[in-house]
Amino acid sequence: MPVEPESERERLLALRDAIKRVIDYRTFYLRYCPHAHPTGNRLQTLCPIPAHAHSGRGHPSLSVDLTRGLFHCFSRDEGGDAIRFYELMHEVKFGRAVGELARELGLGGRGSRGRSLAQRAAPDEVSASGHEPEPLGAERMAAVCETFLAACRAEDQTEGLGYLARRGIDAGTARRADVVYFPRRAYRRVMRKMQAAFPLEELQRGGLFNARAHLTFYRHRLLFPFRVEGRAIYVQARTTAAGVEPRWHNMRGVVPSLYNVDALNELASGSVVYLVEGFTDTLTLAAHDFAAVGLVGAGGLKEEWLASLGRFRVVAALDPDAAGRRAAERYGELFKARGLSLARITLPADVNDFFRHRPAAALEFALLTEAVLDEGEG
Ligand SMILES: [Zn+2]
Repeated sequence: MPVEPESERERLLALRDAIKRVIDYRTFYLRYCPHAHPTGNRLQTLCPIPAHAHSGRGHPSLSVDLTRGLFHCFSRDEGGDAIRFYELMHEVKFGRAVGELARELGLGGRGSRGRSLAQRAAPDEVSASGHEPEPLGAERMAAVCETFLAACRAEDQTEGLGYLARRGIDAGTARRADVVYFPRRAYRRVMRKMQAAFPLEELQRGGLFNARAHLTFYRHRLLFPFRVEGRAIYVQARTTAAGVEPRWHNMRGVVPSLYNVDALNELASGSVVYLVEGFTDTLTLAAHDFAAVGLVGAGGLKEEWLASLGRFRVVAALDPDAAGRRAAERYGELFKARGLSLARITLPADVNDFFRHRPAAALEFALLTEAVLDEGEG
C-alpha cells in the first residue's frame, strides 16, 4: 500500500476520529469524576477542570452526554468533546491530547479508515501501573483454548496450510499437531462464537479479548496449540503476512510447556528426541518422522520440564547463532546437574532452512545425530 503524504493536521484529525470510534466515554469521564453517578446516559457532577477553580461546594455544574461524549460546564460556559476535556484536565494542547489518548487506546499513529478493525482488535498494552485482571485458572483456560481451536478449525484452512507447505510442513503433520487457521474474513464469526461460549470477562482474563471487547487474534491467525495430556492449555499464533510486527501473539500467561511435548507420550524410552527452537523447526522434524519438542526462543527451557525428557536421548539442534550456542551450553549444564546428557548438533542453518535446501537433509541429519551420540557414549 503506498503511503500518501499527509499533513500533521490531517494525521491528527484522522487519529482523533479513530479515538472516537473506540473510546468508551463512560470509563473515560468516570476516571476524572470517580464519585459521579451516571443517570442513564448522562452525568451531572462537580466539575473537576483545574482552570475553572471551582470551590467544590456549589451545584454540580458539569454535564456529560455519555452517548456522544460531549461535556459542558454551566458555571463557566465551556464545553466540547472528550479530547477537549482531556486538554483541559491535563492542560495540554490538542496534538498532545490526541497522541496520548491514542496511545492509551492502543491505536497506531496512522489513523487511516481501513485500519479501524485492526485497531479495535489490537491487544491491550501492558499497563505501566501493573493493573491487570486476575489470570484465568487452568481449567477455564483449557476450555477457552479448545473452543477457540474448534471455532477456527471450522473455517477454511487453505491459506494456513499453504503457508506451512511453503515451509515444507505437510497437511498431515499440521493436522497431527492440530495447527489451525482462520482467514481474516472469518474474524467476526470466530469472535461471535467465542462471545457466545464464554463471559467477556473470562475471554479478557485469558487474553483472547481486549478491553474493547474484541478478539485480539486479528493479525495472527495461524494457531499453534500447546497440548499437555491431550488438552490444549495455551495458544500462540503467527501472522502469515509479510511485514507485520510483532510476528507472534499469544494468550495471557507464560509458555506452559515444551511445544509438542504430547508427541513424546507414545515414544519408547531411549528414543532420540530433538530439542529445537520454535514451531516451524519442531514441525519440520515431525514432518520427517523425527521426534522433536520446541522452545519458544533459544533461552526458553525451564528446569521443571527436564523430567519429561529424562527417559530419552536428547539432542539439541538450536539455531547456529550466538543465542543458540549460549543456550545449548547452558542446557548441557542443566542436564548434567540432573544426571542426564544432552548431545548437540550444529547445523549450518536453522533446522527448517537445512531441510528445505538439501535434498538429502533427512539422511544427513540422521548421520549427524549418530555421530554426536556415539561421541557422547564412546
Ligand atoms: Zn467547570
